[in-house]
Amino acid sequence: MSASPDRITHFIGGRPWDGASTRTSEVFNPATGVVTGRLDLASADLVGEAVATANAAWAGWADASLAKRARVLFAFRELLNQRKEEIAALITAEHGKVLSDALGEVTRGLEVAEFACGIPHLLKGGFTENASTSVDVYSIRQPLGVVAVISPFNFPAMVPLWFIPIAIACGNAVVLKPSEKDPSAALAVARLWTEAGLPDGIMNVVHGDKETVDALLTHPDVKAVSFVGSTPIARYVYETATAHGKRVQALGGAKNHMLVLPDADLDLAADAAINAGFGSAGERCMAISALVAIDSIADELVQKITDRMHKLRTGDGTRGCDMGPLVTRQHRDRVASYVAAGISEGATLVLDGRDGEFDGGPDGFWLGPTLFDNVTPDMSIYRDEIFGPVLSVLRVTSYAEGLALINANPYGNGTAIFTNDGGAARRFQREVEVGMVGINVPVPVPVAYYSFGGWKNSLFGDTHAHGIEGVHFFTRGKVVTSRWLDPSHGGLNLGFPQNV
Ligand code: NAD
Repeated sequence: MSASPDRITHFIGGRPWDGASTRTSEVFNPATGVVTGRLDLASADLVGEAVATANAAWAGWADASLAKRARVLFAFRELLNQRKEEIAALITAEHGKVLSDALGEVTRGLEVAEFACGIPHLLKGGFTENASTSVDVYSIRQPLGVVAVISPFNFPAMVPLWFIPIAIACGNAVVLKPSEKDPSAALAVARLWTEAGLPDGIMNVVHGDKETVDALLTHPDVKAVSFVGSTPIARYVYETATAHGKRVQALGGAKNHMLVLPDADLDLAADAAINAGFGSAGERCMAISALVAIDSIADELVQKITDRMHKLRTGDGTRGCDMGPLVTRQHRDRVASYVAAGISEGATLVLDGRDGEFDGGPDGFWLGPTLFDNVTPDMSIYRDEIFGPVLSVLRVTSYAEGLALINANPYGNGTAIFTNDGGAARRFQREVEVGMVGINVPVPVPVAYYSFGGWKNSLFGDTHAHGIEGVHFFTRGKVVTSRWLDPSHGGLNLGFPQNV
């Protein structure tokens, strides 16, 4: 343990919180196992203070012209771009993912800020002149008030950025609750808003755990909740917050399949399986964890993947390695327990990541890339979201069998097909019951101006993140029917209004 871990605290009303916390938790550097931070955890009372601060600030921000709001967004975008290396370093230090991957995450978040810079255009409503004689009808969208964002550990900067620029551009005030495992990147990004000229109180951060989250889900002045995390918690957040009258988008866990047809370019497919299976140590909601191969090419594909796995270097994310450690010791142990489970359930262990050599501290949370072949749908390594560097190969005899397997899975976040047959790819995009589909693209994360979200147990609520769905989530629609008085249209008429 380091001698003096840094204190990491809340950010409320444009300032770091200066109170004394009765509850704290430890933040680790996963590549060394050393405690680097002591995080203040917010009580329900402190959440109340943060929400009250946001609520007092939001009306002024909602009244700010679109020109003023867009200028703050542009300034924020510039600052984030200037500081992206700093933010990436914070991600690597607390999450463990390698620096290039951390930088990629910040860049994808930055793209949402760029999308939100177009808010004047995005909030344009419809207008119908003379819908009835001398009557015009138009639609406008207005902010909600205080909105909560609750984010997971695996994208500590990008996931908050999926929501916050759009929520702010739409005229809301935000209270963010980042993951307690790696809170510093989100905190650093939140501070940039103040530098960008956002009024104090519009962007707030409270750190914490279940107690903190529950206070947000039940607070009467929180109007909407954007949550991303595991499926059980997403379901709980959805049920609790909707029961308290809030609109909710709760994105959950995943088990993403990659279907490889016999006509695919197998070198491309093998590269893709490696990148999507082991990038960020498999701690991505869009990671490929189940590779579905048609029998006739399965042996060759497994060989190509194994050859590539031998070349991967696992170690400290600051040392140019391919893959970093897992986020916590407990999570590493949980993932390693699935390797043992896969063996006892009868899968073929092709490469065992528990045996690896690691370029990092002896107490880091290490597990190397692991490959199982001959996995079947009844095994726990297939059924559960492992969220680590464990790739399972399932063999099928046909496209139809592969599709049925994917559609029977309770998750529906992302999927990919590898083929050179356009007709097969088109059929797959139409028939697969998954929210985000890649064709020869293994991690099909939609660009910021489309929306991100899965189906089935991967999303509760009906609104996906960012894109125009994000703008709709963070605003309420209003339709105005107006007539500038013409005396000839006066008179009593108790019938239902008809357009004439
Ligand atoms: P998690 O569910 O443990 O935590 C997510 C958030 O919920 C954190 O802020 C955490 O503090 C809070 N939380 C945890 N337990 C809680 C409880 N009992 N009550 C209330 N709040 C609680 O998830 P994680 O481990 O941080 O992240 C990994 C998970 O997130 C994986 O399942 C992954 O698939 C999922 N994820 C999904 C997406 C997506 O877009 N669908 C994106 C990223 C991550």
